[in-house]
Amino acid sequence: DPILRPDQQPGDASEDRALRPQALTEFIGQAEARANLSVFVESARRRGEAMDHTLFHGPPGLGKTTLAQIVARELGVNFRMTSGPVLARPGDLAAILTNLEARDVLFIDEIHRLNPVVEEVLYPAMEDFELDLVIGEGPAARTVRIELQPFTLVGATTRLGLLTTPLRDRFGIPTRLQFYTVDELHEIVSRNARLLDLPADRDGTREIAARSRGTPRIAGRLLRRVLDFALVVGDGRLTRSLADEALTRLGVDGLGLDGADRRYLSLIAENYGGGPVGVETLSAALSESRDALEEVIEPYLLQQGLIQRTPRGRMLAQKAWTHLGLAAPQPPGQ
Ligand code: ADP
Repeated sequence: DPILRPDQQPGDASEDRALRPQALTEFIGQAEARANLSVFVESARRRGEAMDHTLFHGPPGLGKTTLAQIVARELGVNFRMTSGPVLARPGDLAAILTNLEARDVLFIDEIHRLNPVVEEVLYPAMEDFELDLVIGEGPAARTVRIELQPFTLVGATTRLGLLTTPLRDRFGIPTRLQFYTVDELHEIVSRNARLLDLPADRDGTREIAARSRGTPRIAGRLLRRVLDFALVVGDGRLTRSLADEALTRLGVDGLGLDGADRRYLSLIAENYGGGPVGVETLSAALSESRDALEEVIEPYLLQQGLIQRTPRGRMLAQKAWTHLGLAAPQPPGQ
């Protein structure tokens, strides 16, 4: 059940577009990032120069792509989008870079997954707006230098730790995005309900906000599904009880956890006495990749204080035992 997965799912794309904020002033939450960005955008505009390269990092679905698009719009330049895995060869990157106009924004999603050979090409492009391309092979090979228009690279990553130091050091503006508070998500859900013409009670939108895993992408998705229930099961109005009924039927519990989250917590509780247990073991037992656990499932459980990461592995916190309705084992000697 992918309803609570914070990463992009098929079907999101067309739905996203209508709800995506278009300006920094429409963007709710991430106050610090927003305040800083508005200064950097304004400064670049006044100087008539490309804005410094910017790196957004944080869990999926928090608005990295959205902010990059907004930055381009506020700078009044074109927005080009690609991703680390798509740029397989240096030529792929070169083709994009040589087509940029002055001060354009190039967005590279999942930048921690860049091929090292492509990354090498990116360094001089970021630093000096120059491209060194090797043409031909063997003894006939030669390097040509191509001048690029000054541009802004906006990189996004869910895994800051996987970025190489030289790449990381070339971003003038590193920006961490945080999970949203329930109040911020409430504002987002209310705005989205208005945009979707869905009449909604305050505690109806609040219920969705509280169960959205701190993530606007999930809030948008849950609202769409609750809207279906409101139209078909209810009388077209989003009320608290309708939201609760719909979300419970969708397997989303009161903390916003879904089946995969609860399986993760129950496994540690029931098979490993609450931990510590290594992530590889969990990955094998749950048939989920280690990356999916570390990027998608664990960040929210950590932020909610349901689990702890220790050098010896993952451990359940008291809050998780309570949430599962289980008694935590007594520490020895008590
Ligand atoms: P990321 O690139 O971090 O995975 P996106 O920028 O694609 O996230 O955002 C995911 C979805 O959430 C989009 O539909 C976007 O419109 C919505 N969204 C993200 N941040 C906000 C926000 N602050 N206010 C309203 N909607 C948001």
